[in-house]
Amino acid sequence: MAAQILDGKTMSESLRKEITERVQALKKNRGIIPGLAVILVGNDPASEIYVRNKGNGCREVGMYSETVTLPADTVQEKLESEIDRLNADPKVHGILVQLPLPGHLDEAAALARILPEKDVDGFHLLNAGKLMTGAKGVIPCTPRGAMYMIRQTGIDLTGKHAVVIGRSNIVGKPMALLLLQENCTVTVCHSRTIGLAEFTRKADILVAAVGKAGFVTEDMVKPGAIVIDVGINRVDGKVMGDVDFERVREAASWITPVPGGVGKMTITMLLFNTLEAAERMET
Ligand code: NAD
Repeated sequence: MAAQILDGKTMSESLRKEITERVQALKKNRGIIPGLAVILVGNDPASEIYVRNKGNGCREVGMYSETVTLPADTVQEKLESEIDRLNADPKVHGILVQLPLPGHLDEAAALARILPEKDVDGFHLLNAGKLMTGAKGVIPCTPRGAMYMIRQTGIDLTGKHAVVIGRSNIVGKPMALLLLQENCTVTVCHSRTIGLAEFTRKADILVAAVGKAGFVTEDMVKPGAIVIDVGINRVDGKVMGDVDFERVREAASWITPVPGGVGKMTITMLLFNTLEAAERMET
């Protein structure tokens, strides 16, 4: 039997309804309108689309949104002075620097400049450290969304074997830590893993965050597994995931589609992180 679909669009719609209600309550009870500022350096077309979608998401749920667009040759000092300005702006509760930055800029230094309480991407070292130690902090949006989707299966995750393919700081590593918090036994695979399929075939939960279209094939998946496809790959103008969806869905019990899966949830979780940053603000 084909896998059940974990539909990011439907989940996002219901979560955005909840966010809208909480935004309205915050406005009414405390006079706070949650605000998100996005800094975009240069004119990478994919980044421009992501930034536009983030602004649209904010408007949809009644949040304040601001986009700071800087030219591709912006120097580090200018980028950091913009971050400082937003750190000090009371209308802004969340700041996001759209990655990747042009090569001459120091990404780590820029992320470190954002106040940890306004770091709605969860990339600041303090938030990364909190996730590592299990303390309450900001959780990166994509893994947070993926984890939400996994929980929607209703399956008890304790003791399940989760395999994450990919070890990036923004997806693979935080995903592995979240699964560990859910008491899964976690294996992290990457480009130097030897015998990848031997690991993936043992996964009750398989998360693919590789960046290669159709990379995960049916023979790599344990029958009945939950398969979460984080990949966003553009092939001949079409958006495709890391998973060979049509074939793998015949083996899996639950699967996320691309588009309409994890990607949809990422912006919703960004809105959640911004809302929570505003709710935490002392007045
Ligand atoms: P990345 O390039 O930083 O990391 C890719 C990872 O894949 C690396 O850790 C690498 O070791 C691993 N890898 C590469 N080739 C491999 C191989 N042959 N076998 C096993 N592992 C291999 O990418 P990222 O930023 O983590 O993103 C991964 C994918 O997720 C991309 O397609 C990206 O576009 C997508 N993404 C989606 C969202 C979303 O909202 N859905 C958000 C962020 C990233």
